[in-house]
Amino acid sequence: MKIIRNRRQLERLFIYALEDYFEDELRATARAARKGTIYTPDKKALDRMLTQLITQGAYIGAEEGLGPLISMGLGFDAALVNEAAVSFAQEYIYTAYDVGLTNAIDAHTREIIHREVPKWLSEGDQISELTEALRETFGKKRAQTIATTEVTNAIAGGNIASWREVNRQLGTNIISGSQWTTANDENVCPVCAPLGGLVFADGETQPGSIDTQQARGITAGLGDVFVHPGGSGAADNFKGKEYYRPPAHPRCRCTLAPVVQQ
Ligand SMILES: [Zn+2]
Repeated sequence: MKIIRNRRQLERLFIYALEDYFEDELRATARAARKGTIYTPDKKALDRMLTQLITQGAYIGAEEGLGPLISMGLGFDAALVNEAAVSFAQEYIYTAYDVGLTNAIDAHTREIIHREVPKWLSEGDQISELTEALRETFGKKRAQTIATTEVTNAIAGGNIASWREVNRQLGTNIISGSQWTTANDENVCPVCAPLGGLVFADGETQPGSIDTQQARGITAGLGDVFVHPGGSGAADNFKGKEYYRPPAHPRCRCTLAPVVQQ
């Protein structure tokens, strides 16, 4: 397996892999429709791909999560930490969104095929009408949304799994929790700005100093929920809502930082 070192690389790889998968599936759906049949998406191929990508994300999460601890001079067994990250990835793939990640993505694809193909078979003419109707389901935008959201999920999940494993190995709660971290700019949404320690006011996020952001960022124990503090305007709609870890919404790019007891 090729080792991917950072979030950006993985996100790009994830997008391309999904785009290729969707392109193949669209072609196969059209080919089946020409013969008057309804195509069944290749769930096994999707599952293999997602397992590999989510596992890579969990590795990155473990590696990035351990960085600050290594620089503090903490010693631990890195192989066991990686194992914990892999276990998280496997569990996530089978439990995400109640039905599992692969099933969730596959179910939506199937639903649209079963809506659009019979419609085209009874009323359609050119095959381009069908591919047009399926464009969104098999398109770049869906691939990007899934990739960004799931890379965020895998990395944050890998972070938490690795910190728990370090605590277990050291027999302490040296990593007492984690802090929600968001980009320090005005593009951050009203969900993530207050979670990440930024003020949302006058309809947009107010970038602040790194120190105030760090002082205000919401923290939670490992495995506990982050509770949205609310804020002004649109941010107040989320007051009291609970989030297990980033992503807080599709396409969220937030991250976690460890809270270390010294
Ligand atoms: Zn976010």
